[in-house]
Amino acid sequence: MQKLQNYIDGKLVEPISKVYIDNYDPSKGEVYSLIPDSMKEDVNNAVVAAQKAFPGWSSTSAEKRSQILLRISSLIESNLDRLAEAECRDNGKPISLAKAVDIPRAATNFNFYATAILHYASESHAMGDLGFNYTLRQAIGVAGCISPWNLPLYLLTWKIAPALAAGNCVVAKPSEVTPMTAYLLSEICIEAGLPAGVLNIVHGYGNKVGAAISAHPDIPVVSFTGGTETGAEIARIAAPMFKKLSLELGGKNPNIIFEDCDFEKMIETTIKSSFSNQGEICLCGSRIFIESGIYDKFKAAFVAKTNELVVASPTDQNTNLGAIVSEGHMNKILSYIKLAQEEGGTVLTGGNQVTLSGEYSNGWYIEPTIIEGLSYDCRTNQEEIFGPVVTLLPFSNEEELLIMANSTKYGLSATIWTENLSRAHKLAAKIHAGIVWINCWLLRDLRTPFGGVKNSGVGREGGFEALNFFTEPKNICLKL
Ligand code: NDP
Repeated sequence: MQKLQNYIDGKLVEPISKVYIDNYDPSKGEVYSLIPDSMKEDVNNAVVAAQKAFPGWSSTSAEKRSQILLRISSLIESNLDRLAEAECRDNGKPISLAKAVDIPRAATNFNFYATAILHYASESHAMGDLGFNYTLRQAIGVAGCISPWNLPLYLLTWKIAPALAAGNCVVAKPSEVTPMTAYLLSEICIEAGLPAGVLNIVHGYGNKVGAAISAHPDIPVVSFTGGTETGAEIARIAAPMFKKLSLELGGKNPNIIFEDCDFEKMIETTIKSSFSNQGEICLCGSRIFIESGIYDKFKAAFVAKTNELVVASPTDQNTNLGAIVSEGHMNKILSYIKLAQEEGGTVLTGGNQVTLSGEYSNGWYIEPTIIEGLSYDCRTNQEEIFGPVVTLLPFSNEEELLIMANSTKYGLSATIWTENLSRAHKLAAKIHAGIVWINCWLLRDLRTPFGGVKNSGVGREGGFEALNFFTEPKNICLKL
């Protein structure tokens, strides 16, 4: 069985413990590879390697850094099929999605920051005859990057690429649930000629490797994407050490549908925003608010379209929903469906585990599920489920809608469907969210600030925001 290795100081190495963790193929519910069960000492070795590489990498010209990152980007592109198959097997997502979204986007992340760094300039502030100031934007040192399992390579590279472009060295930890493409990325980095120690990838459990990164005194900057509770734990450890922190956390996003929307476009996109990647995207709209006048029409059309979705093996080209990432996560989602019924909700469609036949019979699958009849403030409508489960809630006016939409502790994203653009803009300003889509969903421009408010996070990724995060501004003042 394949044993993954850590990537430390330019080499693929065994964990110090020599102990490995089972890695599951969720489509079959069986172990198919082994992941290093790394410890604090492996993280320490990675930090030493990164510190050693930092003076050279941070003083390498932006052009040279850019060339190496572009090589990584094109190697990801030329390995698209292999990486997509690995992502599909590791995560359970449909192969079509991995090929169209996850892997191309990972290549784009490197491409985007390899070129962004060439246009990244810093400010100057003139003081007339008195003097002037200019700001140096300097790489910070060793950056810690911790990423989740839902978009494994996509989100890992979204952190690594700006950190490296800005001249930092990195110690990264992918989710232990989906380590495979991060491992393949280490092979790609070696092939691309990334100098030893510039990027280090340490595999293992969050409470060992992730915690060691958060607590390491020589990692002054940590970028984390994952659950809100884990983010709070990282903040608790890192804050007294005055680390720079970027936290991209959970969500419970409202999808708001007005009577005057373009109905066909809205339905087509709402199917995607509800169930893409089995609903395991932090930006999925899990609470659907529908203006009362079209509630019944929406419900009938949405249930009918949902019933057409195919739950099948992720390797099948026609699959809409593949496997849920782990048995534990599947059980969590099913427990929320049960809770919704206990809270008085009615399951309009779905609600059950799906058992496929043949070699996939032990895989972890759930029907796309729609629930109505719940109050906006019940647990089902307040807590993140992170699966193929949405609730329908009618509203009759904007005041009522805003109270319900803004009632959760989260504030990641929102979607608004209306042809009345004046209303859309006014509402967008009042919604508690870092990102609001009007008449679309997941339309991304990588230059824009990305992140959440309230318990959905602190800080912003994307564009120059990420380069600002991964650099330290230093003002230099000269008196004339
Ligand atoms: P987790 O918070 O469980 O894990 C995220 C990462 O943190 C994993 O690599 C995990 O390792 C690691 N980790 C776990 N415990 C610790 C710790 N004590 N210290 C440091 N690191 C730790 O999230 P999931 O992987 O379950 O991802 C799903 C969550 O991510 C959802 O809440 C989702 O909303 C959120 N998310 C947010 C996004 C955003 O942009 N705002 C985007 C995508 C997802 P291990 O896997 O080994 O436990």
